[in-house]
Amino acid sequence: MDCIFCKIIAGEIPSAKVYEDDDILAFKDINPIAPVHVIVIPKTHIASMDEIRPENSAAVAKIFEKIPEIARLAGCENGYRVVSNCGADGGQTVPHLHFHLLGGMALPWDVFAK
Ligand code: 5GP
Ligand code: ZN
Repeated sequence: MDCIFCKIIAGEIPSAKVYEDDDILAFKDINPIAPVHVIVIPKTHIASMDEIRPENSAAVAKIFEKIPEIARLAGCENGYRVVSNCGADGGQTVPHLHFHLLGGMALPWDVFAK
């Protein structure tokens, strides 16, 4: 399958890993928008949030179970934010479910204010 994140999981594309176990992988975003910007993914290919089902949601639960540890490993000492872009309007560019873990600064909330 021609999926960038599946290739990262397979080791075909290098990444700066922050955390890995049998089910999930966390690595630094190649184009960070905050001092801490980690991508957390399930190792099974799920295209987006829209594709989460009872059959594949265990990996999603595992991600959220591990996020506090991943945030600590990444250096978030004062809190963090988790974001998942879904589909065209959500701004998703990689069609493999992922969660952006952002931190290392006080993150602005009014990001859509004009
Ligand atoms: P999306 O726009 O789909 O929500 O997020 C995709 C993210 O993956 C972007 O923030 C982008 O910088 C990151 N990304 C895309 N390709 C690569 C890559 O090959 N390596 C890493 N580490 N991050 C990538
Ligand atoms: Zn994939």
